[in-house]
Amino acid sequence: MVEIAFNHATVRERADMLEFLDLCAERGVQYVSIWGQEIDKVGEDVALRRMRELGLRTLGYHRIGPFTDKGLSEAQRELERAARFGADHVYLFTGGGLEQSHIAGERARVEQAAADLLPAARALGLKLAIEPLHPMLAGDRSVFSTLAQANAICDRLGAGTGVVIDAHHVWWDPELDQEISRAGAADRILGFHVNDWQIPTRDLVRDRGMIGDGVIDLASMAHAVRDAGFQGPVEVEIFSDKWWNEDPGVVMDIAMSRCHDVFDAI
Ligand code: ZN
Repeated sequence: MVEIAFNHATVRERADMLEFLDLCAERGVQYVSIWGQEIDKVGEDVALRRMRELGLRTLGYHRIGPFTDKGLSEAQRELERAARFGADHVYLFTGGGLEQSHIAGERARVEQAAADLLPAARALGLKLAIEPLHPMLAGDRSVFSTLAQANAICDRLGAGTGVVIDAHHVWWDPELDQEISRAGAADRILGFHVNDWQIPTRDLVRDRGMIGDGVIDLASMAHAVRDAGFQGPVEVEIFSDKWWNEDPGVVMDIAMSRCHDVFDAI
């Protein structure tokens, strides 16, 4: 059976971090991805204690960024907190940043900032995760849109960097399979986020589909990720007004059932 992890964002509107952790433990989920802003709401000491009591482990920590002066000045603090939570990787959230420069310049600036952060991340045993986001988000959320870009950055920056493959963001890419293989060959796949792309998609950030409700060939993508050597869990990450309005436990149960339907045979 497939191992399933949950990103807190999937149920964050109706379950605070402590409730989320309890819901995971009740379902036998061992790995979670967490958010600094949600830790702040319940208190770091309380959140850490609950994680330890429940025996849960952190995959991804959100996040460093946006890559403004303010976001970067907080980066060291975010890295240290991610390390306290035992995270495997920390997300770089570039933001758009296009008010002051064009996209090529912004990509170069962000990559240099990531390079500058890397020694601190390495010292804390954390990997910096580059998660390409859908190109329609390039203006305001991420200047990195393809897995090829993410792989190229990791090639340049070296050890301590990796990629997260999010189905919603990269499913359309004709070079996806070869770039998944490339990432696997370099042993840099840090995560595989599952969700779906709905037609129509009414909002680019808040209308992701439940696994199986859209048009993504998730089974093929999962095969590619497995064939590339990734052994980690599939991570459910759904930002959706529709699902945020539902009971969090029900949403998680539906997601787990769908994951078993799609991924158990892979
Ligand atoms: Zn994601």
